[in-house]
Amino acid sequence: MSPLRGWQFFMHPGPTNIPQRVLQAMARPAVDFTGSAFVALRDACLEKLRRVLKTDNAVVVAYAASGNGAWEASIANLFSPGERVLVCESGYFSRNWAATAAAFGLEVESLPTPERDALDVGLLGERLARDAQHAIKAVLLVHNETSTGIRHPAAEARAAIDAAGHPALFLVDTISSLASYDFRMDEWRVDLAVGGAQKGLMLPPGMSFTAANPKAVAAAQTARSPRRYFDWRNMVKDGRQASFVGTAPMHFFYGLEAALAMLEEEGLENVFARHRRLAQATRACVDAWAAGGGPEVFARQRAFASDSLTAVLMPQGHDADRVREIAETRYGVALGRGLATLQGRVFRIGHMGDLNEPMLLGALAGVELALRDAGVPIGRGGLEAAQDLLAAH
Ligand code: PLP
Repeated sequence: MSPLRGWQFFMHPGPTNIPQRVLQAMARPAVDFTGSAFVALRDACLEKLRRVLKTDNAVVVAYAASGNGAWEASIANLFSPGERVLVCESGYFSRNWAATAAAFGLEVESLPTPERDALDVGLLGERLARDAQHAIKAVLLVHNETSTGIRHPAAEARAAIDAAGHPALFLVDTISSLASYDFRMDEWRVDLAVGGAQKGLMLPPGMSFTAANPKAVAAAQTARSPRRYFDWRNMVKDGRQASFVGTAPMHFFYGLEAALAMLEEEGLENVFARHRRLAQATRACVDAWAAGGGPEVFARQRAFASDSLTAVLMPQGHDADRVREIAETRYGVALGRGLATLQGRVFRIGHMGDLNEPMLLGALAGVELALRDAGVPIGRGGLEAAQDLLAAH
């Protein structure tokens, strides 16, 4: 096969496209990570991250670890072996956060949700109301389930916890929602948020963070789980991160400074509006394919379809991985695969981070070509529907 020419359209739902400005900011020599210049930069970045999280009172602690590290930090700092947590089951990522909790000896209870739907907050409220002894120490929710492209209702989950009069901590994974659509840590009284670098923050993978409000910080003082690298008590002084247990990942901070400046220049609300527009255009395109018996948007409830990625469900008898392979090798469009139980059933189009309209349209055109080459039936007019949507806004 002849080599591909031109740009690759990288449409993974994380890692995402890394802007040149971020890459260039990271191309620097190392410095003394205890020196005043780096410490000032680190502090300024952590402060700005609080603005993205919409919190005034949470302690943000960053780790030289991918999102799994921040998951581990959330569990190790807040709980003791044998304690019970309620995990809102949303897909692959909720299951892996639950597996982290189980590995620390926690008793994990799952609140099941049909795989194509968003969390039913009524069921959450009912379960908590039945927990008269308050055995459940925390509710864990993945705000944007990256394996299904479904947004789960965090504000409404908080309201359900309150309505049940339950004191459980509320933990939210914002890894693939932060800086793509709205997340309000203080307003929703999220006790602990988990974030990652490689999605809406447009950085390479390898850095993650937690943001803990005073209730979570207090819980960490008495938790008995073993911990060292992720132990806030080794890192936080006077309400802020004062050190890393090991070497500070300074280049991530150089990149983060540039990424945060880009978000600030565009304006967070404009960033959200752009993500919304690109997501709606993607869904309009997929809907047109579906109208001809083709692949469809995996999220069944349109109000909960994610603005950061779209998982696309193949019609019976057609393999998503075959389409992905053609898209990548013939047309230079890289798509996310279906994870675990969804492997082969869905492909995922990431539309978060550093992306604009022509990039999305080019990628959708490439996917449509791949679908045709793979012999998948599709309705016509997908690209036009996407353009109509983008032109109308
Ligand atoms: N949580 C969510 C919602 C994710 O999408 C991911 C990764 O894609 C993770 C957690 C795990 O993060 P990582 O792969 O960076 O360890």
